[in-house]
This record gives sequence, structure tokens and C-alpha cells, in this order.
Amino acid sequence: MATTTEHIHCLIIGSGPAGYTAAIYAARADLKPVLYTGLTPGGQLTETTEVDNFPGYPKGVTGPVLMEDLKAQAERFGTQVRFGLVTKADLIGTPKRVWVDETTEITADTVIISTGASAKWLGLPNETRLRMNAGGVSACAVCDGFFFKGQEVAIVGAGDTAAEEATYLAKLCKKVYMIVRREEMRASKAMQNRVKSTPNIEILWNSETEDILGENTVEGVVVKNSKTGEKRTLNVTGFFVAIGHKPNTDIFKGQITMDDMGYIQVVPGTSKTNIEGVFAVGDCADKHYRQAVTAAGSGCMGALDAERWLAAQPVHA
Ligand code: NDP
Repeated sequence: MATTTEHIHCLIIGSGPAGYTAAIYAARADLKPVLYTGLTPGGQLTETTEVDNFPGYPKGVTGPVLMEDLKAQAERFGTQVRFGLVTKADLIGTPKRVWVDETTEITADTVIISTGASAKWLGLPNETRLRMNAGGVSACAVCDGFFFKGQEVAIVGAGDTAAEEATYLAKLCKKVYMIVRREEMRASKAMQNRVKSTPNIEILWNSETEDILGENTVEGVVVKNSKTGEKRTLNVTGFFVAIGHKPNTDIFKGQITMDDMGYIQVVPGTSKTNIEGVFAVGDCADKHYRQAVTAAGSGCMGALDAERWLAAQPVHA
């Protein structure tokens, strides 16, 4: 199937803040990195509008501009950024082997995985439309909650993320409706208690989101009680979805140690995976923080770990 074969010293898979930061450090360390972007160059942040919490941008920056800046910075030091999707990997042996777009086989001395994670969505047509048009639908309260200061918002989900984000939003917003599909929450007891004791959070049990109203921005959310059939319209201006993320790690299954959700497990405090010379950074290995800046920080760690690992390898004549 492969039509071309190429050897790369340092291969970076993924083009979010983690991948580009790894590329900046790897290029400056003369590792001659090649970065494959995946199908969404720039990753999750290209679907965001304003990013106000990335250090160094006092006036904020849009997600796409931030990613273009990171890409330009990586290229300035010689990173080759290529559009392409890694579809298969054999990371156990030496050198590592990956296949891009089913047409190119690459061998690599070291691999930094920064394939990210994708937020899960409900799949409602108006959710997609308003999300794509920055109309007030978001999967990250820490990123976007600030835009709804003093307003009323709704959040869907009942896990630790939803509980954490609901309490975060409650500090900023006048009122938070938490839409829970069962009559109990999956979140830890401590997180549940925190939600239940926050006066401006109202939990709607046994509730499903039927529709999101509004032409250009969210103007309301229709919720149906699955037990009684009763419908209610919530007058909210923001709609947050916190029903989980899926790490983009399927192609590495069976080789790299992951948790039961597919997040790559690294040696704590490092980016090292169970495979020598393979490092994981950013959201594919982080289900707790999921921030651009933490991803970028771990990208730096990945490049430094790769550089040190390469330096310790015997030199072959
Ligand atoms: P989870 O998978 O734990 O929870 C997802 C939640 O979304 C569940 O309550 C689920 O409902 C609900 N849900 C799923 N699909 C739908 C749908 N279509 N409509 C409505 N609701 C839906 O994801 P989290 O992101 O919350 O957590 C991921 C992992 O990260 C967990 O292990 C969690 O413990 C961990 N985490 C830990 C934190 C911490 O320790 N501080 C903070 C954040 C996350 P149901 O319960 O009915 O299936």
C-alpha cells in the first residue's frame, strides 16, 4: 500500500498547541522535526473564537490566529509542517514505523504523539450550527464561561467535568441549569455535594435537551423531562456540553499503555510512555486540565524528553 518511504529523526503527530510547542523545542534542538497535522490543522482551538487565557496575548486572540502563530513559530526554526493523517503505527520496534494517508511509510527515531482529544456533542442540528458560528455553544467552561458573566447558562452532563464546570460557571453567571439525563449523577460524591450546595445551580433531573433556540446566538434551550414528558424552555444565553471527551488514540491501541478511556498513560511528571522513544503530550494524555497552555507546556516536556532520549542512544556507524 505504501508508495514512498522516508526516514525522519523526530516525528510529531498532531497540530494542536502541544504538537506545535513540541515542534518549536525540537527544531531549536536541531532534531529536524516533521509534524503531521491530522485532518484538522490546529486542532480543537480552530473551532474556538476568543482565547483570553493563553499567556502572552493581553488583548486575547482567536483560536485560529493562535494556532497560525504557533505554526509560524515552529516553522521559523525549521519544522516541516505537513498536512496528512497518520492511519497506522508500529511503534514497538526500532525504528518506529507509521503510515500517512495510506500512501507514505515513515520510519522515525523518536515519535511525539500529540493527537489530542475530541469533545463529545449531543448531535442536535442547532447545537452544531451555533457551535460552528461561535453562537454561544461550547464544550469548555473554563475557556468560554467568562463571555457569559452575569448571564444565565445551561450545562449538560453529570460527570466530574460537568460538576466542575457547573461550579466554575456558577461563580461567574447569575444562574446555571444543570441538565442531567438520569436521576443520579456519575460525578464523585464530593463534586455532587459541591454542585448541590451551590445556590445558583438548579439541577434538572431526568432531563434531555430537545433543542437550542436562537438564530445567531443562543436564546433558549428546550428541555424535556423523560419521566413526565413535560417540556420547559430555559432562558439562557450560553449552552455548555460536558458529556465527555474521546482521546484520539485508537491507532495506538495494543501498543501504548492507556487507561480504560483511551488516554495514554505517561510516567508521572514526564511525557514518557511505556515504549522507549515514544512520548505523549497534550490532551491525548490528559483528561484533567485540557487547556491550551497545559498542552503547550507538556509539548515542551515531550521535546525535551525526546531530545534527552535520543542523546542517550548509541551512535551507529
Ligand atoms: P464522564 O464520561 O465521566 O461523564 C459523562 C457524563 O455525560 C455522564 O454523566 C453521562 O451521563 C453524560 N452524558 C453522556 N452522553 C450524554 C448525552 N448524550 N446526553 C446527556 N448526558 C450525557 O466524562 P467526564 O468528562 O465528566 O469525566 C471523564 C473522566 O475524567 C472521568 O474519569 C472523571 O472522573 C475524570 N475527571 C476528573 C476530574 C477531577 O478529578 N477533578 C475532573 C474532570 C474529569 P450518564 O451518567 O447517564 O452516563
